[in-house]
Amino acid sequence: MVDELTLQAVYAARHAIAGYVRRTPLIRSEALSARTGRAVYLKLENQQETGAFKVRGAANRLLALTPEERAAGVVTVSTGNHGRAVAWVGRRLGMRVVVCVPELVLPHKVAAIRRLGAEIVVHGANQDEAEVHALALAGKQGLTLISPFDDPWVIAGQGTIGLEVLEELPDATTVVSSLSGGGLLGGIALAVKAVNPAIRTVGVSMERGPVMIESLAAGHPVQLPEEPTLADSLMGGIGLDNRYTFDLIRRTVDDTVVLSEAEIAAAMTYALREERQIVEGGGAVALGAVLHEKTPLVGDNIVVILSGGNVDMGKLIALAQED
Ligand SMILES: *Cc1c(COP(=O)(O)O)cnc(C)c1O
Repeated sequence: MVDELTLQAVYAARHAIAGYVRRTPLIRSEALSARTGRAVYLKLENQQETGAFKVRGAANRLLALTPEERAAGVVTVSTGNHGRAVAWVGRRLGMRVVVCVPELVLPHKVAAIRRLGAEIVVHGANQDEAEVHALALAGKQGLTLISPFDDPWVIAGQGTIGLEVLEELPDATTVVSSLSGGGLLGGIALAVKAVNPAIRTVGVSMERGPVMIESLAAGHPVQLPEEPTLADSLMGGIGLDNRYTFDLIRRTVDDTVVLSEAEIAAAMTYALREERQIVEGGGAVALGAVLHEKTPLVGDNIVVILSGGNVDMGKLIALAQED
């Protein structure tokens, strides 16, 4: 299975999705460079289409569907960045996109998905029940279920970030990224390690429910209770039946870090104040790991992935005023 996870697959993804995603800027952070005594660069996926990197994986997955699958449409259960990405790419491809949501999902999230042209199906008391319903719908209506991370095309799509980084910074020495299901960091690590195995890869999660990190410690996928966190886009499990990302992360990631809520808040306000970047909690944790010196930095060229910018503006302003 892991054979599909190759540098070649990432290049194929790069070719396939080129017309659908932005090549995001890689900018030097003067503030973090001065602070660490190394050159620190920020990869601005908060400026990606739909406000997060997930459109890369979603585009690669939807473009890989057979003509029959494309005609039937796709289904997902995410109302977050993955759902937005699938809806956005689906609309560009003229496809049917169904998003299954539990009854208590926040109305503004549903509205945002609807604006992107997706159909909303409300079912179940929680995320798990919505997921069961999505699977049933997939079976009944011939829809393809699009995983947010545990899929080789999705992983290869996220890996295109690694290619872009190396094209602009061939002597990158460390890459720090947020880590949840592992599609993002797994894809990036796959790409950069294939080019230079010495590049250090670091994954960052929140203290409140770091499922992949706990799974690595246990040696198998585990489940944790969900807790509210500023890094809401990193919430959720890795699947007890995880097929790809658990092994990929175990093979390719050198260090993992967890951040407290206060450290995540500080990273978000630092990004705003010092870098003039709007970054959501889940998108700021890699910056937080460098800011709070949570991981040894190796070499002189440090790359920090800012993975998303979909934050409630009132919340971000409130955090900045408290700080
Ligand atoms: C989904 C997401 C992540 C985590 O990606 P995984 O592939 O699940 O590890 C990080 N940041 C943002 C903004 C996200 O939306």
